[in-house]
Amino acid sequence: MSHQHLRLTDELVDYIRRVSPPEPDFLRRLRAETSRHPQGRMQITPEQGRFLQFLIRVLQASRALEIGVFTGYSSTSIALALPPQGRLIACDISPEFTAVARRYWAEAQVEARIDLRLGPALATLEELRNNAAGDPFDFAFIDADKENYAAYYEHCLALLRPGGVVAIDNTLWHGDVIRPEVQDPDTRAIRAFNEFVKSDSRVLACLLPIGDGLTLACKL
Ligand code: SAH
Ligand code: CA
Repeated sequence: MSHQHLRLTDELVDYIRRVSPPEPDFLRRLRAETSRHPQGRMQITPEQGRFLQFLIRVLQASRALEIGVFTGYSSTSIALALPPQGRLIACDISPEFTAVARRYWAEAQVEARIDLRLGPALATLEELRNNAAGDPFDFAFIDADKENYAAYYEHCLALLRPGGVVAIDNTLWHGDVIRPEVQDPDTRAIRAFNEFVKSDSRVLACLLPIGDGLTLACKL
């Protein structure tokens, strides 16, 4: 049965980039610097970055949460789309990775909008939930250790306002989700997460085949 999805060739991706507004120079340099990093493939694509910015704008989001900063491509993209008084709480455990992110936040002039919380994200999320006085979030982006995806998702749903959106990256996991011989903990966690979201009546969700798979869930 034809699934009617267009197969994206490198030439089509080049075309998409040609008909898109140019990536700001600092994001292009951040992408180039990160692509030389051994784990450089962890960063989102420019198209995903634009899409996250689009979501921030249509949601009129001013309070955002990110779990998994790495060298900062997604956090810089999100922060640029927030209003000047907006805030992004950005969680990561790595001082080394986020030192790179900090450099680019400064270049993009968004560092005042970003509150970096270094430490295990589960502890940061618990702290945020215990702070009952905190305003709810409009948007959350989950892109850290895959085994904790289900726990991150629960925390994010609790912290979001109704109508808020949580976006979850890598939900197609370079196709390993459908390779039964692949049984490592990350792949199993993503499969279980996808099955869980499918029957979660608290959200309206969809899995977009963009980048490595991006799931969106809108809190009802
Ligand atoms: N969103 C980033 C990529 C994130 S890569 C981008 O698009 O560029 C995953 C990140 O999750 C890494 O930086 C890693 O340090 C972080 N991470 C892994 N385990 C974590 C944990 N338990 N708590 C917080 N961050 C974690
Ligand atoms: Ca990712």
